[in-house]
Amino acid sequence: MVIILKQSASEARIRDLIQWIESQNLRTHISSGDYATIIGIIGDTSRLDEELLSSLDIVDGVKRVSEPYKSSNRKFHPMDSIIEVGEEKIGGGHFAMIAGPCSVESREQIITVAKSVKAAGATMLRGGAFKPRTSPYDFQGLKADGIDLLLEAKRETGLPIVTEIMNANHLPLFEDVDVIQVGARNMQNFELLKELGKTQKPILIKRGLANTIKELLMSAEYVMAGGNSNVILCERGIRTFETATRNTLDLSAVTVLHELTHLPVVVDPSHATGVARYVKPMALAAAACGADGLIIEVHNDPARALCDGPQSLRPEQFEDVAEAVRQIRTIVCPQQ
Ligand code: PEP
Ligand code: MN
Repeated sequence: MVIILKQSASEARIRDLIQWIESQNLRTHISSGDYATIIGIIGDTSRLDEELLSSLDIVDGVKRVSEPYKSSNRKFHPMDSIIEVGEEKIGGGHFAMIAGPCSVESREQIITVAKSVKAAGATMLRGGAFKPRTSPYDFQGLKADGIDLLLEAKRETGLPIVTEIMNANHLPLFEDVDVIQVGARNMQNFELLKELGKTQKPILIKRGLANTIKELLMSAEYVMAGGNSNVILCERGIRTFETATRNTLDLSAVTVLHELTHLPVVVDPSHATGVARYVKPMALAAAACGADGLIIEVHNDPARALCDGPQSLRPEQFEDVAEAVRQIRTIVCPQQ
């Protein structure tokens, strides 16, 4: 349920109302915009008397929110959420350009790629240290050493780092990581999501291979229900009957998500297509349809990459994509 307050409502009366709602064993989420203050109510609101609430003189209107996702629902929070990552911001017109290799492979590799993507305009560095591989015989990542190397690259370049977690027991290793990624294969690892909800770290949740937009929002809800509202959503393609691309990039998800939620939405054209030469057109399309950021795989030597070489851009190709994305954004968001 959401209660829309009148502009004239005094702080003291709003506080009283919130206290009363919370005394009914319900949680509140306050959203103060320029034009209206909204109280979102989370919990079993069936016992609340809608008419009684509507009759209060500080209340402009009361609406039931039927969707099961509450905290992530735009009805609770009409303004775009802006997630802060160090000095960087994502959402509400702030665009994140996240780039780096699929996996951290060596000091030389991650530092070289970090410097080149930074020079090309990346705002964050990605790199997997714990890798979810389909085969147990494939490279599984450098694990804790990979995180140490990412932190070294961060010290060298100043770029905040984004890396994937696969097991909540590893959380202590992620203490200095700026954005924790939940990969597609773990989108519905609810115990992991609950643990991440207890932190205040920005969490980038990738859409599962066969998950709906609503299921993605419910995964965000798991993190937010724990008290962490720093969630970024990622469309990375879904599995369809099409085999020409690794996955099928569902760009309409960006628009649908922007309608349903206030959370920022980034697009991963690398995992979506699996083919380096398809990355630029899909990155441009994502920027054109209003994505809040991109996450792109870049490798200094894609042919020798230990993971996802075929979809990785060389640094100079990334530079070209980044410049083209900037140009698209001047048209889509001329005020930025
Ligand atoms: C990745 O980002 O390297 C990755 C494994 O992505 P996804 O979870 O989208 O497959
Ligand atoms: Mn990858």
